[in-house]
This record gives sequence, structure tokens and C-alpha cells, in this order.
Amino acid sequence: MRYRVTVEGRVQGVGFRPFAYRLAQKLGLGGWAQNTGAGAEVEIEGERERLETFLQRLKTELPPPGRVERLGVREIPSQGETAFRIRASAGGEKRAIILPDLAACSDCLGEIFAPQNRRHRYPFTNCTHCGPRYSIIAALPYDRPQTTMKAFRLCPDCQREYDNPEDRRFHAQPNACPQCGPQVEFWNSAGECLAQGEAALSLAVKTLELGQILAVKGLGGFHLWVGAGDENAVARLRERKRRPHKPLAVMFPDLTQIQGNCEVTPEAEDLLTSPAAPIVLLPKKSDSNLASNLAPGIGELGAMLPYTPLHWLLLTDFPRPVVATSGNGRGEPICIDNGEALTRLGEIADGFLVHNRPILRPVDDSVTRIIDGRPQVLRRGRGYAPLPLPRGQSGPTLLAVGGHLKNTVALALKDQIYLSQHIGDLDNPETEAAFEETVESLSRLYGAVPQKIIHDRHPDYQSTTYAQGQSAPTFGVQHHLAHVLAVMAEHRLQPPVLGLAWDGAGWGLDGTLWGGEFLRIEAAQWYRVAHFQPFPLLGGAQAMREPPRVSLALLNCFDWEDLPPALQNHFTPQQLSQLQILYQRRLNSPLTSSVGRLFDGAAALLGLVGKISFEGQGAMLLEAQIGGLETEEAYPFALDAFPILSWRPWIEALAQDPAPLNLKAAKFHNTLINLALQVCRRQGLKQIVLSGGVFQNRYLLTRLIRRLQGLDFQVYWPQAVAPNDGGLALGQIAAADRYDLD
Ligand code: ZN
Ligand code: ZN
Ligand code: FE
Repeated sequence: MRYRVTVEGRVQGVGFRPFAYRLAQKLGLGGWAQNTGAGAEVEIEGERERLETFLQRLKTELPPPGRVERLGVREIPSQGETAFRIRASAGGEKRAIILPDLAACSDCLGEIFAPQNRRHRYPFTNCTHCGPRYSIIAALPYDRPQTTMKAFRLCPDCQREYDNPEDRRFHAQPNACPQCGPQVEFWNSAGECLAQGEAALSLAVKTLELGQILAVKGLGGFHLWVGAGDENAVARLRERKRRPHKPLAVMFPDLTQIQGNCEVTPEAEDLLTSPAAPIVLLPKKSDSNLASNLAPGIGELGAMLPYTPLHWLLLTDFPRPVVATSGNGRGEPICIDNGEALTRLGEIADGFLVHNRPILRPVDDSVTRIIDGRPQVLRRGRGYAPLPLPRGQSGPTLLAVGGHLKNTVALALKDQIYLSQHIGDLDNPETEAAFEETVESLSRLYGAVPQKIIHDRHPDYQSTTYAQGQSAPTFGVQHHLAHVLAVMAEHRLQPPVLGLAWDGAGWGLDGTLWGGEFLRIEAAQWYRVAHFQPFPLLGGAQAMREPPRVSLALLNCFDWEDLPPALQNHFTPQQLSQLQILYQRRLNSPLTSSVGRLFDGAAALLGLVGKISFEGQGAMLLEAQIGGLETEEAYPFALDAFPILSWRPWIEALAQDPAPLNLKAAKFHNTLINLALQVCRRQGLKQIVLSGGVFQNRYLLTRLIRRLQGLDFQVYWPQAVAPNDGGLALGQIAAADRYDLD
């Protein structure tokens, strides 16, 4: 018998063909395997029983990160073939799954630390189980001439590995060794090359030992590194990067050092050591000896392990934790090019460890955490992008351009949705260029021409402007609907669903800024069934940067004498009377129902923030205040104005509460939880979705999940995509699939 088998799933760049080869050898089958644009194709010939065994084992035994999702089998005339061959790639339909960049595997690490091995201390060691993929691929199918490795000609030793189906590096496209592959160089900030190879690594380590800032070219872009135990060095990095408060991620030389500084559950350990090797947010131990300005005022730390041989080598020679933050200026995308890094990071870094393997597209480190024992992605980048999610059904080719902050885009093609990496806030020309480049390259990779472009309803988002400037027809999706539908798409939920979409702000259907929404999702329609009482943002964007302005509006108090002391410190009586005019005449003061801003207002009321430097800072500090306090105490609230949810009674109670800060912070959170529970009970739907940036708050999210589950609700929250605006693109696709019937 002879079968022709089409294979779909993660089958390129994972050693699928040698796996099929070995399996066929074991079973004594003839035929061949080859990559196609859509995945792989296999023909096998032999006894029927053995062919069936082959198919069964092909599906279940392919080692990770590979995964067979679908086998299409048809019988064809036998050809009398008894040997099995691996054939060169064929063209065809471009649908193969592009793998993300994967952390160095244990076999490769074993080689770089083995003195006799020909790859001893070689920073670009990789194999079919690990190494760069998405960051180096220009086109499908995934073959070396279509990657940035095309400039490096395999030496005879590497070529032998590449050609040998028994070898771990059989058709490992980025295969390289010290003889034939990329090399590192150390540059000073004037761009002069001071050393190469081992000498370059030594200078890099020296830079760290001196407490200086090192720019390191990695997998998906540049990092900025500095010793994480050195308070002054960290302060210098913050000053030069103009990043006064936002937490900085730390790369540790090994798991033991992470465990010494943070609480690591078994689930967190699995995530840290997974092939994605993301940043994992972990509770910081009180006796951690790291610099106190890594995440000021916040109880969590973003920790990760080295994920390229280069990182492992550096942290073997400098065996201490380092800050490893994205190599970019404030608000800009991560640098990927050596020359560009010199220009953009020249004022920040004291030395540059660069290499000559080009990076095709910026891919930031992913940020994750464990919620209720399960991983949750907060920023989707290296290790995850551009893996697809199932679309549920086949549909037209759609492009979703996401939101404005933490932008990502998505491409819906047949029955898959391909999600891009985190691009950033579309506030400057560099990030906008990265956005357009990502849209074009995703479409190009899959040979996709979008029939429609889906965007946010906000008229001023850069992504909206882009969508409307294209020739394809467009479809606008309400922001909070997209937040809820993203979670429904991820978990394959069918309506009816009650979605809580709580975030910073999104354009509402009534022209106000929504952000504290309860949406009822039904098959043919959706409804805003409840929302927080809107309040004015005094001075618009300025109120986002200055949370004390939010407190004033919430309290409706502009009398200096009557203000809580924390607010008195922030305003003069003259400023207050000017702000009162804004409030009364609604000048430049858009209305919002945002829970994110309620958090800002509460944080400022308690004196935790004045001016802030990143979105969500107030909420992070307010949550951190709770510490380990366990209490069910809360402020009273009433639902008498339903569907409008008033915050006035509990904001006023908070302002007058003589309780200690940690208790006040807990009571504020608990009040929101109680209120959410009440609304959920009142709506009477079984399925509840929690989405929006506010649910990045661990205390709020985990307690609300537990309380809802205790009342027999089925609770869903984002796990594969971010709860913040990074998840919008997926929800936009889902909204178009559900409600755009033209
Ligand atoms: Zn490997
Ligand atoms: Zn070589
Ligand atoms: Fe949002």
C-alpha cells in the first residue's frame, strides 16, 4: 500500500523530516518526506498495518516544540519503493506555522561548556530543537537561503551535520560553528571595534564589573545590561533611559539565584525553564540583596534565565544577576541593527557587544506570570509570536491592526489567527514604522492579501488612521467588545457571556471614554448592561499623567482646606480654582467610566503618586501596598442607580478612612470585587469573562476569580494573549467573524 499524507502543525524547523525518516526506517517503510509552504508532505509505502502505526506515531511522538495538528491521508498507487528519502522543500501554499525563537536547549548548552567540543564557548550554537526562527526568517518555506543565515556558508563539518538525518542538526537552518558562523565584536560607544571573539566577551564582562552599561545584541534585538545588585549603576541606567519608575527585568545566571531572591512555584519554574524562556513576574523575597530601585514600591520582580548561548557565556563569566531591559529609548521599538543601536543607544550604553547575524524583525522578551496555577502572557513576544490560535471556522482573510498602546496585530487566514509580537505604543515615528513593517511582513510571509482591515473605533488612533488609508474595506470594533471577544476566542466560548472590560480607556459608542464596562455578549448582538459612573478627566491627557487631578474630580472638592493632606501637597489654591473652572464648564475634560483612572484617583488620594511616568503606575503601587494583608473588609456601596455604578460613597469613605494604608488599599480592591460580584449575580449568566488592563492587578484578578468560582460561575481570563490592549487584535478578528456579516 502507498499513502500520501499532508501534515499540518508545527512541523518546520523542529526536526520533523528526520523524525519521519527514523520512524520509517524502524518500521521498514519506503517513501519520502518534504517541507511544503503549508507544512510537510510524506509518502509511505509498505504493509497496511505498519502504515497505520507510522501515522499514529507520527502524530503522537514528534518531540516538542513540534506538534502535528492535522494529517490528511489518501491512498495512491504503490511504486515498489523500499527506501525512505528526505526531499528538498517544495513551494506551494504558504501556511506553514513559523516557529518562535526558542531558548538554547540542554544538548547545545552541554556542547558550549565542554572544552573538547568543537563548539566550546561558541555563542551561536543551535540545533533543530532551539535557536532563532521568527527573528531571522524572510520567507516561507523555512530554509536557510530564506533566513539571515544565508550569508554564512556551512563549513564541511556543519554541512555533514546538516545532511545527516541521524544528526540533531539535520536541516537545522541556522546551524553554525566557530569556523563558519557569526562572530561577536565589542565596540565602544564611538563604534570602534576593540575586540573580537573571546576578547570581546572579556571586555563585555569587564564593562559589567565596572558598573557600566552594556548593550548586548541578542535574539530579537538589543538589551541594556547592568549589574542588578548595583544601586548606582541601576540609577544611571534609569536616568539615561529616561525611565524613572517602571520596573526593570532581571536575568539571573541560574534558577538557584532566582529562588534566592523570589518565590518560585513549580508552575513558575516550568515557565522560566520552558523553550519560550519568558520574563516571569515573581513575588520578591524580603531578604533579596538586589538593588532596591529595580521595581521601586512594587513587590514583584520580572525574572528570566539566559536564553541564548551568548547570554549563558556572559553570565558564566559574570555570575551575578543583571538588569536586562529592552535596548530602546523611551517609547521607541527595540533596536535590532548594529548601526542603529550606536545612534539610538550611544548616549545610554558604555559598551556594545554586537554580532554579525542580522535580526530581521524586533521581537521583545515576553512577560508572563502564573495566575491560578496557569501561565498568563502579559506581553507576547519572543518564544510565543507568531504562533497562531485556532479561529474556530474558516473565513475571509482579515487583518486586525489592534489598538494604540501596547500594539499588536493579527492576521486571520483560513482557520488560523496569527498573532504578531508586541510592537509598542504608536506614539512616535519609529514605532509607527515598526507597526507598518510588522503588518507588511506578516502578510508577506503568508502571502496574504487582507479582504478587510479591522480597527478600533477610536478615530484618532494611529492604527485606525493606517487602516482607513488602505484600499481594503474596513470594519471598526468597539474597544471593550474586542477585549471580551479576545478571551472568548482564546477559550472557544459561545455566547451568552457577561464580560467585564476594565481598563485605562477606550472609545465608547457614546463618544465618552469607556473603561469600566459590563458587556453582555449574545450571538447576534452585544449590550452595555452596566458601567461605572462617568467622571471628567481634568485637562484630558494631563489627568492621565497627574492622578491627583482625578482625585479632585472624584471628590468634587476644590477647596484647599478640605482636601486630604496628600492632595494639598500637590496643588496651590490658585491651581485648584482653575481646575474647578475646568470641572464646572467641562472644558477640555472628557468623561470617562474608566476603572484604571479610579485606581489612579485612589492612589493619589492616599499619597502614593503625584506625577506618574507610565500607565498603570498608580494601580501597581496601590496593589503593592496591600502586602500580605488578608482581609474581607470593604467599603459600602449601593446599586441604586443601576445600570450606572456609583463610586462616590466608597471613594469618600476611602478619603476619610483612618485605617492604615495597607488596609485602605485592600478595602478599595475588595469593594470593586464585591461590586463586580453583585452585578454578575444580577445578570444571571453562567460564563464570566475578565479582561482589560486593570486585570493585570493580581490581587483583583485572583480574588475575583476565586469568589466567582465559589458562586458557581465559570470564569475565563486571558492566558495566551495579554489582558491589556496587546490582546485587542485577536478580539477584533473575533468581532468581525461574529458581527460583520457583509
Ligand atoms: Zn539545541
Ligand atoms: Zn561550521
Ligand atoms: Fe483597553
